[in-house]
Amino acid sequence: MKTQSALPLPLPAPVPAGRPYRPHDVTAVASLAASLGDMDLRSSEAELTRAGTDYHWYSPLLSERLQGRRPELVVRVRSTQEVIRVASACARHRVPLTPRGGGTGNYGQCVPLFGGVSLDMTGMNQVLRLEPGWASVEAGILVHDLNEIARARLPGLPGLPVTRQQLRMWPSTERIATLGGFIAGGHSGIGSIRHGILADPGNVRRLRIVTLEEHPRVIDLEGADIQKAHHAYGSNGIIVEVDEPQLRALMASFEAYGCRVFDPHTWVLEDGGMKQVDTQQLDFKKLADPLGLMNPGKVRAWDEQVLGIPGGQL
Ligand SMILES: Cc1cc2nc3c(=O)[nH]c(=O)nc-3n(C[C@H](O)[C@H](O)[C@H](O)COP(=O)(O)OP(=O)(O)OC[C@H]3O[C@@H](n4cnc5c(N)ncnc54)[C@H](O)[C@@H]3O)c2cc1C
Repeated sequence: MKTQSALPLPLPAPVPAGRPYRPHDVTAVASLAASLGDMDLRSSEAELTRAGTDYHWYSPLLSERLQGRRPELVVRVRSTQEVIRVASACARHRVPLTPRGGGTGNYGQCVPLFGGVSLDMTGMNQVLRLEPGWASVEAGILVHDLNEIARARLPGLPGLPVTRQQLRMWPSTERIATLGGFIAGGHSGIGSIRHGILADPGNVRRLRIVTLEEHPRVIDLEGADIQKAHHAYGSNGIIVEVDEPQLRALMASFEAYGCRVFDPHTWVLEDGGMKQVDTQQLDFKKLADPLGLMNPGKVRAWDEQVLGIPGGQL
């Protein structure tokens, strides 16, 4: 894990004793919006309703529980620097922040439970590097677009080589889903019979994370550390960059096993919290989101152990 300072004073704030925000505090959100006035802020009825929606409507239980939940403000970011500004402002004003990619999650993962900011990542959609076997991209790129660029079917990308590649795996929602959302909330997909699940070693090479603090830090997670933010439902830092895998090495390792039967994932988002405590993820949340403002209510272990709310907030 490598840390670089995004702004001065990269000291982690102490974990607060109680809930640091007031749900739907419109005054705090108004002050925050004023401090970000030059950015792409959206607060129309249509934008707020959209930002309170994903594919949780498949579940009658979640439809009922999440009805009417939405943010007070949508901020569409275009760069890591903008993400850092929003993270810092949310921490200063004690406003919850919920990252959002394509909004195709099935469990309300990107539905803000207590209002605040919905951070729309889809403007961060650049391919930073494209090499044989791997690519480095901004987290808001659509999975389909990255596949098309890697196959060199999308025009208008001067400087990128023609590589005739594709991702190891992608979700069936690839035309709407972002790579960051797939990594934060997804599991596996088309290609997984051959290449395993996202959590398997080597399928993600590096994640660049922005922490949610008054002075946000930028942290690069590599190797086993990636699991601290992978599949943490946007509650363990904002993913701003992703390095997708070295194709050949992993293929060789799976082919040596033959067809892989992988474990079902044990993480279930239920009633707004996790069923099992992943101490590694919980410890990383203390580092990446020391105030507990990120996607609040989604990690039951945090609510129970840090906030002292038995059964979680929802
Ligand atoms: C019909 C259907 C088919 C599906 N098929 C698959 C499948 O094959 N495989 C699979 O794994 N999933 C599948 N899903 C679930 C979902 O589509 C995928 O997980 C998808 O990749 C999520 O991406 P997204 O950009 O839409 O994320 P969102 O729904 O926007 O977000 C998902 C979670 O990630 C967080 N998040 C988003 N961006 C960031 C970021 N940059 N940093 C930190 N946190 C972030 C959000 O807060 C949220 O908790 C399917 C869903 C549907 C409705």
